[in-house]
Amino acid sequence: MNIQPTYSSLDYPGKMALVLFTPGCNLRCKYCHNPQLLKNQQLTRWDIEEIEEEVESNMDFIDAIVLSGGEPLLHVDDIKNFIKQAKDNDLLVKLDTNGLHPDETREIIRDLDYVAMDIKAPLDKYYKISDVYPSNTRELITETINLIMDSDVYLECRTTYVPGLLEPKDVAELTRDLNCNRYTLQQFRNRVTLDSSLSNYEEPNPEFLREILENIETKIPEIRLKSRQFGNQLIKRN
Ligand code: SF4
Repeated sequence: MNIQPTYSSLDYPGKMALVLFTPGCNLRCKYCHNPQLLKNQQLTRWDIEEIEEEVESNMDFIDAIVLSGGEPLLHVDDIKNFIKQAKDNDLLVKLDTNGLHPDETREIIRDLDYVAMDIKAPLDKYYKISDVYPSNTRELITETINLIMDSDVYLECRTTYVPGLLEPKDVAELTRDLNCNRYTLQQFRNRVTLDSSLSNYEEPNPEFLREILENIETKIPEIRLKSRQFGNQLIKRN
């Protein structure tokens, strides 16, 4: 099967979810911890039927489905099947996306409850993170954010902090005018990475990350830190 289904109580805050990891992505983040998913493969009728059966047989056990990857919006026509099944059964739907697909987001937004969008770096500095990225990254991500914030869908933006790729001033810059409901800074983990040289990079100290967040100036209502040592912590509310 080209989709990896996993059960998790962490991917949709406060809910038990079936997480569907779809293949393919149009970025190549050096720290990507799902490099096995980056090969773009079509979803088959068989994939879709298997997932529909998985959802059906675990309906009583889950509150939500999470569309993750990879980049799920590369398969927007296929994931509409999962979204319809979830909505028909009163399940919540969360989308994890890199934010580079506003047109596809628009196609499904009315059925989404929660979007977690990666903001990899300041929008004109994606070269720090990925060797490939669209030349109009800023426009695409801004359009996606505006679309979500004009809807009733909850938007969390999140950044993985890799020392050596990002600096504290990058976090300050990218959060300054960011419009979202919640922002999470994620601690880089060096166990599995697309660029194997990153396995030599140290995982940043949570106290260092907390200090970065305490010093940012932003109007985002909720600021959080996610680390191996302390889990998902609220740092401040604005
Ligand atoms: S956007 Fe996500 S799935 Fe795509 S390369 Fe980056 S980390 Fe990996």
